[in-house]
Amino acid sequence: MAIAEPQFDDLYREVIIDHFRKPRNRGTLPAPTQHAEGMNPVCGDEIMLDLDVASGTITALAFTGQGCSISQSSASMMTERVAGRTISEAEQIADAVSAMLVDGADPAAEIGHLEALQGVAKFPVRVKCALLAWKVLREGLDQAKSPAAV
Ligand code: ZN
Repeated sequence: MAIAEPQFDDLYREVIIDHFRKPRNRGTLPAPTQHAEGMNPVCGDEIMLDLDVASGTITALAFTGQGCSISQSSASMMTERVAGRTISEAEQIADAVSAMLVDGADPAAEIGHLEALQGVAKFPVRVKCALLAWKVLREGLDQAKSPAAV
């Protein structure tokens, strides 16, 4: 990645670095019901997401990808936060993360440790990095909701 990482404490809180170094749910699922991917060309971030959705609930998910620490740690935290949730619960969490990062809203309780990403809101270029995993998640959930996927 050619883009230099700015050195801002707000941007690189400990929990973000921890998830970047030790990503949770990294890998692929043997027979995912949904697969979605996306990229952020500005930064070179890529996220590929496998989902198992059964009866409207996310029973398992796993991601692979590459890119900056913000994009990869957001994906890792996302997988932890939405595992076991219903589609609508996961969408509410995604909305709350967007509200915090795009609208500068206070972190809602349901986003949990994703509050660590709050500092990213001050850096509009990096907001795209943080939201990439959530955009990919929404695409996977949309597939799960569409009749064609049933
Ligand atoms: Zn990035």
